[in-house]
Amino acid sequence: MTSGALAHHIARLIEQTGPIPLSQYMALALGHPEHGYYMTRDPLGAQGDFTTAPEVSQMFGELIGLWLGRQWRASGMPAPFVLAELGPGRGTLMADALRAMHKVPGMVDAASVCFVETSPVLRAEQRQRVPQAEWHERLDGLPGLPLFLVANEFFDALPITQYRRDESGWHERYVDHREGRFIPVLAPIALADDRNLTPVMRTSGKGESVEISPASCAIAEAVSARIASHGGAGLIIDYGHARSAPGDTLQAVRNHEFTDPFEAPGEADLTAHVDFEALSRAVRSGGANPHGPVAQGVFLEALGIGARAEALRGNANASQRKDICTALERLTAPSQMGSLFKVLGITPRGAASPAGFA
Ligand code: SAH
Repeated sequence: MTSGALAHHIARLIEQTGPIPLSQYMALALGHPEHGYYMTRDPLGAQGDFTTAPEVSQMFGELIGLWLGRQWRASGMPAPFVLAELGPGRGTLMADALRAMHKVPGMVDAASVCFVETSPVLRAEQRQRVPQAEWHERLDGLPGLPLFLVANEFFDALPITQYRRDESGWHERYVDHREGRFIPVLAPIALADDRNLTPVMRTSGKGESVEISPASCAIAEAVSARIASHGGAGLIIDYGHARSAPGDTLQAVRNHEFTDPFEAPGEADLTAHVDFEALSRAVRSGGANPHGPVAQGVFLEALGIGARAEALRGNANASQRKDICTALERLTAPSQMGSLFKVLGITPRGAASPAGFA
C-alpha cells in the first residue's frame, strides 16, 4: 500500500490528472524538492543504498584528476578556468582529483571549482571535502570560461521516457495508481507519426521497450557547446550501453539490493542505463567531439591504475594491501565495474585524441 509523503503526493497528482509519464514519476521520486530521494539523504556507501567508484578507492578520482590535468596542459593551460562536476555525491572524486592536480603546476590556482548539485544533504557533504567549491542548481549557472568537467553516475539518475510496442504500435509508458499501488501502464493511444521514431524503434519488434532520455541529451549537448566555444574537456562515466538498443533498464536499488521501482517512490534509488550512442550524438550536435565510449576497466588501465595501485601498496600494511587489490579488481574487472561502466570523452573539434581513448 502507498505510504510516505512523496507516495501520497504522487498518488494525489495521478488522482487529479490521470496517469503521469514515467519521466515525471522518476523526476519526482528522485528530485521532488522536499521529499525526493536525493533531497532527503546521503545514499552512498556501505550504510547507504549503493557504492560508486570514487567511494571504492581514491585511485579513481586521482586518475581522473590527472586526465583533466593532461587535457588542461594540452589546451595551453587556460587561466582562469572552470573545474566542474555534475552530481558530485560526497565530493570524494573531486577531493581526490584536486590532490592529484597539485602535481600539475599552476592548475589548482587557476581552477574555479563548480559543483552542479540539487541535494542540500549532499551539498553539505561536498562542503566538508571541497570547501572552496561554488554550487549551482544547473549547468546554465556556470561562468563562461574554459570548462573541464567530470560526471560520474550522474546521467543514470536523469529521467527517461519509455515506449513499448504492441499490436497497435508504440505507446508511451505512464504510471497509474490503483488499489493503493503504483503500476506501469501504457498510454492507450499509439504514437501517430512514424517519421519521429528513433532508428532503434524502427527495427524493434512487438513486445520490445525503447528508452530515450531527453534531459540527458540536453545536458550533454550543453556541456559540449561550452567546450566547443570556450575550450576544455569532459568525461562522462556511467553504466550503460555503447550502442542504442531496445530494453527496459529502469531499476531501483535500496540497501544494495534491487527492488521494485514502483514500490516506494523517494525511498529507493531509481536509475536507467545510459545510452552512450545517444550522448555521443548530443555531443556532436553541441559542436564538440565525442571519444569512445571505452570500458571503464580499459580506460583506467590505460591511465596507469596498475602502477598507482603498486605505489599505494608499497606504503601500506598487509590489510590495506588486500583492500587495494580488492578495489583494483572492483574498478577494472569485466565481471565487476570494468565493462558495464563506460567512459565518454569530450574535446573541442580538432583536438588530439585524449589519453585512454586510443
Ligand atoms: N558522482 C557521485 C554521486 C553519484 S549519485 C559519485 O560517483 O559518488 C548522483 C548525484 O547526482 C548525487 O550527487 C545527486 O544528488 C546528483 N543529482 C541527481 N540528479 C540531479 C540533477 N537533476 N541535478 C543536479 N544533481 C543531481
